[in-house]
Amino acid sequence: MIEFKNVAHTYGSSISVEGISFHVKSHEVVALLGPSGCGKSTILRLAAGLERPSAGEIWLEGRKVADNKSITRPEERGIGLVFQDYALYPHMTILDNVLFALGHRRSGNLTAAEKQARAMDALQKTHLDNVYDAMPHQLSGGQQQRVALARVLAPNPSLILLDEPFSGLDNRLKERIRDDMLHVLHDLGTAVILVTHDSDEAMFMADKLMVMEHGTIVQAGAPVDVFCRPHSAFVAEFFGEVNKITSTAKKGVIDTPFGEYPAGDIADGAAVTMIVRNDGLIVDPRGDEADAVVVETIMLGRYSIVHLELNWQPIGALHLHARMSGMQWFEAGTEVSLRLDASQVFLFSENHSIPSETMLDNADKLTN
Ligand code: ADP
Ligand code: MG
Repeated sequence: MIEFKNVAHTYGSSISVEGISFHVKSHEVVALLGPSGCGKSTILRLAAGLERPSAGEIWLEGRKVADNKSITRPEERGIGLVFQDYALYPHMTILDNVLFALGHRRSGNLTAAEKQARAMDALQKTHLDNVYDAMPHQLSGGQQQRVALARVLAPNPSLILLDEPFSGLDNRLKERIRDDMLHVLHDLGTAVILVTHDSDEAMFMADKLMVMEHGTIVQAGAPVDVFCRPHSAFVAEFFGEVNKITSTAKKGVIDTPFGEYPAGDIADGAAVTMIVRNDGLIVDPRGDEADAVVVETIMLGRYSIVHLELNWQPIGALHLHARMSGMQWFEAGTEVSLRLDASQVFLFSENHSIPSETMLDNADKLTN
């Protein structure tokens, strides 16, 4: 559907994105995930034709639509864009808001009746046909969000670009709208690129994830794959809070607060970063070793965060967080044993990472 081939872009003299290569098929929802300023919106703007690449090529449905010399105009691309700020016209009905999107040149040869039918069809797909004659202020935030989507669907785009479309919604509403939207998008079978800085949202919505850092795609793959086999500490940390421990590989092992850990093929003397997701650190009050002392427990309802202090010889006192599901309570000062869930532990050294399968083997050695 759309393909980027080694695309770069600059704003003035500063590089915004570089070496961007990926493709999105029809029926596929691809999420671009990364921190603010990493270049996500720029990629959408390039796809839409609002920016011109400084290098590389962009192809849409088998046609080249942009390189550093020529560019196909946005209105000739058949792409629908929903931005975070999806302002509806407050003085127009829902139907008129959608019809307005069909007023552009691209749909100019449709008769009034055809436009009406297209608009109603888009409203039906987004489950808004029963409120077609309402005014925007009469609709909930979630319904308004769907009007923005209907407006984009009406001209039958082959690709839909969503730039942080849920960030203006409160949390509970967001979950419902996301769910709604996911079903609508799956039913449509249109190719979608969704931009977000929220890893839960990306995991929930996407068939494929692309993680960005400083203007480049650092990892791409199926969401579960990226989650389970992050290629860098940056990617691992992007999915939620982690404990980060630095050490050095010596004679095939790494000295860690949790004992000696097999270094795999990490070279002797290499600096190692060990990432333990908060969910991967398991507190066992009945374990036989006193590994750490509870500093504080914070119960958040669905899960609890246990703050721990652990004395680790080379460094001194380490502060660690364990996330446990449900209501868990450990009195401050309690001595506890710690275990690791190796599927949530990752080792990184310069130019090297150990995938979690290896870690699973290692874990048996460590925890037995
Ligand atoms: P994201 O959407 O991931 O937050 P953007 O694609 O908006 O990131 O921005 C990427 C980089 O380009 C940032 O460093 C940002 O400051 C810069 N940038 C974005 N828009 C412009 C602009 N119109 N002019 C100059 N620099 C810009
Ligand atoms: Mg952005």
